Amino acid sequence: MRVKKGDLVEVTVGKDAAASEGHRARGRVLSIDDKSGRVTVEGIGRVHKHVRPSRKNPQGGRLHIERPIELSNVMPICPKCDRGVRVGVKVNEDGSRDRVCKKCGTSLGRYRRAQK
Ligand SMILES: [Zn+2]
Repeated sequence: MRVKKGDLVEVTVGKDAAASEGHRARGRVLSIDDKSGRVTVEGIGRVHKHVRPSRKNPQGGRLHIERPIELSNVMPICPKCDRGVRVGVKVNEDGSRDRVCKKCGTSLGRYRRAQK
């Protein structure tokens, strides 16, 4: 898994990719669905959902929800390169694996196996 929950990622395709001048949209990964290979990213793919009044939401009205996007459409951001980067995997001496920026080698945290 190149991406983990809580990662700051860059969106590489779709209408969110060109959100602000010259910069790709960024957001934090809220959740990952390993089965469908989709991620939900804060502020990305946002849609309005109309809801009926309920006890939880007595006013009803519109809710913002984030629609999951394809995992392959996001890239983790390397803090050193300050951009979305390709991720490599480095095996540590104790057998654990780290994700590293393929450009500069900076560690991007532990590599996570997909839970299927
Ligand atoms: Zn880097």
